[in-house]
Amino acid sequence: MTADPNCIFCKIVAGAIPAKKAYEDDEILAFHDINPWAPVHILIVPKRHIASMEDITDAHAGLLGRMMALSPRLMRELGVTNGFRHVINTGADGRQEVPHLHLHVMGGPRPWARG
Ligand code: 5GP
Ligand code: ZN
Repeated sequence: MTADPNCIFCKIVAGAIPAKKAYEDDEILAFHDINPWAPVHILIVPKRHIASMEDITDAHAGLLGRMMALSPRLMRELGVTNGFRHVINTGADGRQEVPHLHLHVMGGPRPWARG
């Protein structure tokens, strides 16, 4: 599936819901979380709809690698100098709220709102 019409992150990718973008290319979008846990809280998502890590196979290794590799560069650009945290929640027991794969990248000075 390229886009799910009911998916909030697909709507952000399509520009139908606004978001504060931090990075964009052909296959990846990064934007600021609307309810940040940390002074800097970015969500990195594939542009095409992938519901969660449950759907990931070897075929997605390049995409996931690019999402991970983008994160230190983004943190540097956003002024994060003292470390950051990656989180991916998957499914109900993983407490995933939005069923479109997203990599949380959080950083900035402590204390944080959560986490
Ligand atoms: P999850 O619990 O699925 O790993 O995280 C979903 C994240 O998406 C939450 O941190 C939440 O604040 C964020 N979020 C939910 N809806 C929106 C939205 O419409 N815009 C933005 N920028 N972030 C959102
Ligand atoms: Zn989606």
